[in-house]
Amino acid sequence: MCASAPITQDVMTIPRKLPDGPVNLVGLTREGMRAALIAAGTPEKQARMRVSQIWQWIYVWGARDFDVMTNLAKAYRAQLAQHFVIAVPEVVRREISADGTRKYLVRIAGGHEVEVVYIPEVDRGTLCISSQVGCTLTCSFCHTGTQKLVRNLTAGEIIGQVMMARDDLAEWPAPGEGMGDRPRLISNIVLMGMGEPLYNFENVRDAMKIAMDGEGIALSRRRITLSTSGVVPEIARTADEIGCMLAVSFHATTDAVRDQLVPINKRWNIATLLEALRAYPKASNSERITFEYVMLKGVNDSDEDARRLVKLIAGIPAKINLIPFNEWPGAPYQRSDWERIERFADIVYKAGYASPIRTPRGEDIMAACGQLKSATERARKSRAEIAAEAGLDG
Ligand code: SAH
Ligand code: SF4
Repeated sequence: MCASAPITQDVMTIPRKLPDGPVNLVGLTREGMRAALIAAGTPEKQARMRVSQIWQWIYVWGARDFDVMTNLAKAYRAQLAQHFVIAVPEVVRREISADGTRKYLVRIAGGHEVEVVYIPEVDRGTLCISSQVGCTLTCSFCHTGTQKLVRNLTAGEIIGQVMMARDDLAEWPAPGEGMGDRPRLISNIVLMGMGEPLYNFENVRDAMKIAMDGEGIALSRRRITLSTSGVVPEIARTADEIGCMLAVSFHATTDAVRDQLVPINKRWNIATLLEALRAYPKASNSERITFEYVMLKGVNDSDEDARRLVKLIAGIPAKINLIPFNEWPGAPYQRSDWERIERFADIVYKAGYASPIRTPRGEDIMAACGQLKSATERARKSRAEIAAEAGLDG
């Protein structure tokens, strides 16, 4: 914006009047909540204080009802209840895998459904959340990509997935307990569920700001990883406005193959993507970029691929996360053999990069990477359609 331009953005985004019907406080930034409280009659002078109190109730204690907010006057609580709700997505189904992975199907406004996956590990727990219903991109190996995009999730629906999982895991402190009294079950968040987070930038940003806010869920930005298929123009913005860890769905070492696997490559090719990653300002030894690489038998898993990969990323602090392909009905690929994956990992490792192989989790409940797809979205594309879009024969 040019320096002399009037600052109009705040005026436009801050509501002067509340829309009809109750407003959900979940997902509003502090500034947004302040404006909403003022629009609902909270005196301006008190608004900051009220935000702080309500924020704590919602994000430290998990409150869903204004009645429990005992440090607010009774009349004010009633006033809040007239204008606002504290709502998170509703769990429609919960499945628990033999390995402890939990997959939730949650319903959001409009009757849409998205999936959320909780992956417990010995010393941590990762929640994989969705940013869109479906995905507009059509990566040929991804189940979500066969579902046409229905819509972007709101910030409330994104952070609401975290709150819903905290409910299910009983992670909120009970009355009488302090903030740090319980072990953190959700210690990490990954934006690796359904959707391309960088095509829903503002809502993802606002939701992650809430997750990082020190007076609430308080996850460090190092414990949040956003995975993108390579939306180059938004990568620098991610560093500036979110500051979380970045993962990139790399998956191929030539443009010819990447065009087929990750079609967004036709728009921003490997060289352009690498340039953006090199400039990711937060990249440093302590903040490596994760390169995700799905192992597809005979497609991208040769020794030559491994060697090309390490050459391409030379100079970028990186970790290569090898993902054995997770099969889904009608998928046009097969998982690489285990020895092949290990050999690939070895070449990458010897070149100086950590090369963990992602253990598939929750496969028995179709909760693994790339297997997510709303049950409500039944119109599956055929195998032939997927192959045609990917530019593959047959
Ligand atoms: N849209 C974002 C984030 C969601 S996908 C992205 O593409 O990065 C999360 C990860 O799972 C991505 O690396 C994606 O490429 C990978 N993935 C998708 N389908 C998969 C499958 N069937 N098997 C293994 N990994 C898959
Ligand atoms: Fe969308 Fe990511 Fe799946 Fe590609 S891999 S279709 S970007 S969810």
